[in-house]
Parts: sequence; C-alpha cells; structure tokens
Amino acid sequence: MRNSKNLRDYTLEELEALFTNRGLPGYRGRQVFKWLLKPVSDFAELTDLPKNLRQELAQEFSLFIPAVKKVETAQDGTQKLALELADGEVIECVLIPEEDHYTLCVSSQVGCAMGCAFCLTARMGFRRNLWPHEILGQVLRAKELLDQKKSPKPLRNIVFMGMGEPLANYENLIKTLKTLLHPKGFNFSKRRVTVSTAGLVPQIKRLGHEVTVRLAVSLHAACDEIRSRLMPINQRYPLTELLEACRSFPLPRGWRITFEYILLKGVNDTAQDARRLADILRGIPAKINLIPFNEHPLLPFKCPEERAILAFQETLLARGFVATVRKSRGRDISAACGQLATRLAA
Ligand code: SF4
Repeated sequence: MRNSKNLRDYTLEELEALFTNRGLPGYRGRQVFKWLLKPVSDFAELTDLPKNLRQELAQEFSLFIPAVKKVETAQDGTQKLALELADGEVIECVLIPEEDHYTLCVSSQVGCAMGCAFCLTARMGFRRNLWPHEILGQVLRAKELLDQKKSPKPLRNIVFMGMGEPLANYENLIKTLKTLLHPKGFNFSKRRVTVSTAGLVPQIKRLGHEVTVRLAVSLHAACDEIRSRLMPINQRYPLTELLEACRSFPLPRGWRITFEYILLKGVNDTAQDARRLADILRGIPAKINLIPFNEHPLLPFKCPEERAILAFQETLLARGFVATVRKSRGRDISAACGQLATRLAA
C-alpha cells in the first residue's frame, strides 16, 4: 500500500509552495522538480541537494516509479510495457514507432468503469485511479527503454488511450498534463498530447478551459440507440449533449477534434451509419478515425470486410470530412486499441 506521498504527484508550482511553506527557498522545489523528469527513485541520487535535506525528504516522501514487469515486442516494432505499481496492480502502456518519432499510449486508471461492449479493459471492471506519478512513470519507463535502445527517434506524442477513462480521473489527469506540457517539465508540445474520452460531458467542458491539448472522442455510433448498446455512458450523456460539448470546445485555430469510430460488422458499418455520422458531425471541425475492430475470442464482434471499411470511409470523404482508417499496431502482442487488460490476457 501507499504510505508516503510521491513527489511526482506535485506540479512545479505545488513543489515550490511545498518548499517555501517549510521555510526553504522556492528554488529548492525547482531543483527537485528537475530530478523528477529523470528515472531516479532514490533520494541519494539528488546529488545537488544538501544531504540533510535529502534525508528529511526521504523520511516523508517517495520517488517510486512503477517497475517494468514485462516488455513485449510486436513484429511491427510496437512495444507493450507491463508496469507494476506499489500496491501490486499492473498497468500497461504501448510504445508505437512512427516514421520520425515514437507515440506512447498511456493508461489513466487500473481497469475502467465505462463498460464499453467492444473493449477488453471494460471486462476487468474498475479497480482504481492512477496517481500522476503512475502516469508520468509510464513516460519515464518508455523514455528509459528508448535510451537503452539508443533510439535516434524521440518520444514525441502522448495519447491517453490506454486503460481507463482519463476524464474520470480528472484532477490527476490535469496535474499530469501540467507536468507533461510545462517548458521546465517534460516540455511536450500541446499539439502532440491527446486526451481521449468516451464522452464525459461535464469534464469535456472543464478540460478545454483548464489546459490546451488535443481532444479525441470515442463515438463508435451515429445514433443513440446503437451507441447506448455499445457504450453505457451514452445513457447518461446522449449524443446531442456530447456533440454540443464538442461544438463549444475551445479549439486553437486549425485544430480539429478527432472522433474515433470502431467499425463492427453488422452493428455500425452500413452506408446509412456513415451518412448519419456525417450528418451529426456537420459544423464541428472534425477528423474521423475509423478503427477496424480487433477481433478477440472474449468479445462478441467481428471486423467488417475491407471493402465495407473503404465504402464507409468513401461516404465520409465524399461529404467533405477528413476520414482515415487506423492501421492496427501491435496486434500480435494484444497491444491494439481496446485490448489492454492485464488480468484477462492469458
Ligand atoms: S473503450 Fe476506453 S472508456 Fe470504454 S471501457 Fe474501454 S478503456 Fe474504458
């Protein structure tokens, strides 16, 4: 169990305040913060701090980083990291090689409470929220892996599309984003950090006013009847409310909201579905990401034929939308979208 507060749970401003409240100069907070961006887990490694301060901090705080339990590598170079948390829970994150950089797909919760019918993580149920240090720990472990490989390509993109609904862990998400985006922190570009949600409307409304990041919305159906069957959250926040929140989401110039749409054979993949999707998204700066379903024995859905996928895309393109078909990555190590579920992966 967790018995001391982890210093990576603090933003830079909070760390400065922590030190000044103890009568110490604020620059000590900045000094410590720099170390938190490296994979250090022992206060003895903070060599530019006085020894007595290191000892004092060690008595009260922790620098624990989730431990790498397993790394699996797919044929396409995608790597799935299983990380063990201080309480023994295991989470997963996925490092995806792109042409000139890497993208890391991070988890925000252990399990998930959203219950989406096509998702393996949903089968785990909800276990708990991740602390900022457990989300940042995924970034640190991925960077460490790239350093070990002497990778010439940097980790440039972070997507919150792993296990869990990030907006259901709102306070910890915001703190994590602040450290990821801060110029003195990990300094990721706001264009390259994407938060994906199943559609928690109140939190979508807050998010855009508190931090600037890309928003991705898991839509997966163009009418309430099908969406409620696939995603129980739709009964609480139906499509009209969700799309209204998207319409008023403050987007910087030239940005679009990404709408994720998993194509399920015979469920949401007809020409009528594609036309309805175009109709409901009209007027929203949108990019539609079509995801052919990754079949799994535990899930009762099939992937449509390729020509059905292309016809669906064509209908959207013909109506002036940007619509791409996502290439499945890491399929052979169950790292593809919706397949992260440590406790179920036999
Ligand atoms: S798709 Fe995302 S929101 Fe839905 S159950 Fe899976 S992890 Fe949760």
